[in-house]
Amino acid sequence: MAEILLKDLYKTYDETPAVRGIDLNIAENEFVVLVGPSGCGKTTTLRMIAGLEHITAGEIFIGDRLINDVPPRDRDIAMVFQNYALYPHMTVYENMSFGLRLRKVKKDEIDKRVKNAADILNIEELLLRRPKQLSGGQRQRVAMGRAIVRNPVAFLFDEPLSNLDAKLRVQMRTEIKRIHQRVQTTVVYVTHDQVEAMTLADRIVVMNDGIIEQVASPQEMYDSPKTRFVAGFIGSPSMNFVPCTLTQNGAGLGIKLSDDIQLNVPVGREQRYRAHIDRDMILGIRPEHLTERRQHTNDQQQDFGCKVSVLEPMGIDTMVFMDISNVEVCARAAPDAVNNPGETMMFTIDMQNMHLIDPSTETVL
Ligand code: ATP
Repeated sequence: MAEILLKDLYKTYDETPAVRGIDLNIAENEFVVLVGPSGCGKTTTLRMIAGLEHITAGEIFIGDRLINDVPPRDRDIAMVFQNYALYPHMTVYENMSFGLRLRKVKKDEIDKRVKNAADILNIEELLLRRPKQLSGGQRQRVAMGRAIVRNPVAFLFDEPLSNLDAKLRVQMRTEIKRIHQRVQTTVVYVTHDQVEAMTLADRIVVMNDGIIEQVASPQEMYDSPKTRFVAGFIGSPSMNFVPCTLTQNGAGLGIKLSDDIQLNVPVGREQRYRAHIDRDMILGIRPEHLTERRQHTNDQQQDFGCKVSVLEPMGIDTMVFMDISNVEVCARAAPDAVNNPGETMMFTIDMQNMHLIDPSTETVL
């Protein structure tokens, strides 16, 4: 168990910058998820922590020990990969104990650790089987078991669930969370799946193009994204972004979406936005904050009418698509409250949950 500290970390492959100055402090026993689109540098960051990739510049500490030049085997870190690379000719027990045997750990200590890990992972029954006699999820557990028996200071996971089918992925996600609650250890977990990040992390690190966009708890990331990139990346379906103008509206401020749709800015936000009056901005609003017209539950909810273009029933909700100022906007409505495509429907927008984005900096104001 240890704190991991990344200080101004850079990695350049030949001429390609993959990681461009990352600072991150991962607390002892914290579950941190690095998430971002393909090529954003998350695997490279993880591999630098593991010692599998040379660091171009910056420092990595585990506890108070600088590990830049410490070889991987001496870092006391266990890595679980997407392809679990179990030895096919060995039993589960042998696979799990292999690393410890290499390290000349005593036989009864090995036995104790393997049985303990098997108990945590619920695979006691499988110890004498070979990998080909296991399901994908069971193999994934054995790969984790191999890491747990080492009793490492930290676990690094690189997209460990991406080879599993959708249902198993959800099951294993819960399993990993349960295991982390039992084996209190520092975890750094890489995924491109924002749902996995939201459900697993104590803190999420959103990366984009080699830098960190934001570090926050899942709820804070969802409620208060700092950039347009984070706002669009976290949440499904994605946040709507609609061009608008910020206007003076009597004593208050208004958001003009089109000639027909004008909304009031919540009073509490006026101070924050006032410097941007008469400028072209972007309104960010999540589909769940744009619904069929309802009895208002708070005084920041405002109504407008718009023509429905497409409906997508999801069972619990129906996604309603409409066109506002030539932008496709998605609302999340109750299935029995939607109108047919071509008809005008009344919507309620919850302005308490609006975001105003400055298009010149792509930051959320
Ligand atoms: P993915 O989800 O696709 O794995 P990632 O966020 O993990 O993406 P990285 O694998 O860290 O991204 O790659 C970051 C950048 O560095 C990419 O532009 C990639 O092409 C480049 N890169 C990665 N490994 C190498 C390498 N060995 N040689 C040259 N360029 C590399």
